[in-house]
Amino acid sequence: MKHSPWNWINPELTELQTTTLLKYKAGEEQLSALFGLKKGFTVTKCCNRNWEKEMAPGKKGILERLNAGEVVIGDGGFVFALEKRGYVKAGPWTPESAVTHPEAVRQLHREFLRAGANVMQTFTFYASDDKLENRGQNLKLTGVQINEAACDLAREVANEGDALVAGGVCQTPSYLSCKSETEVKAIFKKQLDVFLKKNVDFLIAEYFEHVEEAEWAVKVLKTSGKPVAACMCIGPDGDMHGISPGECAVRLVKAGAQIVGVNCHFDPMTCVKAVKMMKEGVEKAGLKAHYMVQPLAYHTPDCSCQGFIDLPEFPFALEPRILTRWDMHKYAREAYKSGIRFIGGCCGFEPYHIRAVAEELAPERGIMPPGSEKHGMWGAGLEMHTKPWVRARARRDYWETLKPASGRPLCPSLSLPDGWGVTKGHTDLLQQKEATSKDQLKQLFDRTKNQ
Ligand SMILES: [Zn+2]
Repeated sequence: MKHSPWNWINPELTELQTTTLLKYKAGEEQLSALFGLKKGFTVTKCCNRNWEKEMAPGKKGILERLNAGEVVIGDGGFVFALEKRGYVKAGPWTPESAVTHPEAVRQLHREFLRAGANVMQTFTFYASDDKLENRGQNLKLTGVQINEAACDLAREVANEGDALVAGGVCQTPSYLSCKSETEVKAIFKKQLDVFLKKNVDFLIAEYFEHVEEAEWAVKVLKTSGKPVAACMCIGPDGDMHGISPGECAVRLVKAGAQIVGVNCHFDPMTCVKAVKMMKEGVEKAGLKAHYMVQPLAYHTPDCSCQGFIDLPEFPFALEPRILTRWDMHKYAREAYKSGIRFIGGCCGFEPYHIRAVAEELAPERGIMPPGSEKHGMWGAGLEMHTKPWVRARARRDYWETLKPASGRPLCPSLSLPDGWGVTKGHTDLLQQKEATSKDQLKQLFDRTKNQ
């Protein structure tokens, strides 16, 4: 174990883990030197890839963790966080910054890892070729380039801690435009090919408004043999065609997903409610699954089935709705009590939100996140504050019961969401490569004024 290039490997490696190393196609010489393997031990193929960087030595896989009843903390929302930092354009929401600004993406991964996340999702949301060229984007980068760069960044940071890499796909403009099953599946396959080349630890199909498209994605991902998680972006009302969360979950499990749940579109408690409905549906059907939830960090009590996209404040004025870290404690506890073990976040979730989830579930997990070094539990750090009335806030019951003021005079607490009611199958939703024309925009502006 003194070979310096590999001294990061856990010297207590078991036989099983040694076998895992073989899967990474390490050379016989390297393995023999490392583990003193006996002669006659064979490795099928030696290759030049930098397996040292790629693999997760001694780490348990996602299903191994969930089967053992462990809590898995997910990461937060990259698209919204990086938009605010100036690395993602609101509108197309595509992740080309994985190539153009890797330092920004890497830093956000690191912050989520430090906050306690066990999963580094590749920053590949909307990284399919049909999305990259939708509505006049004309990016010079290909989907393959972006997906590859995103995998490398996620792996680099995952290797710095106890995190796994999850390759992610999401809904496509092609599906909305009523393209065929074969065409839509080919788009997922292209991303999957990169995830396999980069050897991610598991796969997540997330942010699907229509269960049919999510099933197609799961079936494609399933061909890899890697564990597959599937999330709909739905609330208790079900998908855009009114298919209930329970039925969606049953269909996803039948398609091959081992982990099912919801992400995005609704606030944490609403998402937990939807996942509970999924769980009931799966159990009623006599099936088995693990459950995950990655909600918004925004309060959405006024949303209808399309979620926060319908809110007039979407996406540039949502700040008054942001959950506090204390809200996240309640969310984490509720998710855990509901039997959900993969608990993370989506849009609006910053690292401090994930840290709050990890802190709430520290008794169950047996560890505090590194980021808690700078965070006294329940405001304890305020004991050191200069002002006595602030020191008086250094207690759990203060923060747990606080009802924060928005600080905005004359503002309503709720909104009247848009309710255009268009989804796949309506001509309004046909996607196009060209930029939206002035004429097309005028029609939309007029329609809003007339409502
Ligand atoms: Zn989201």
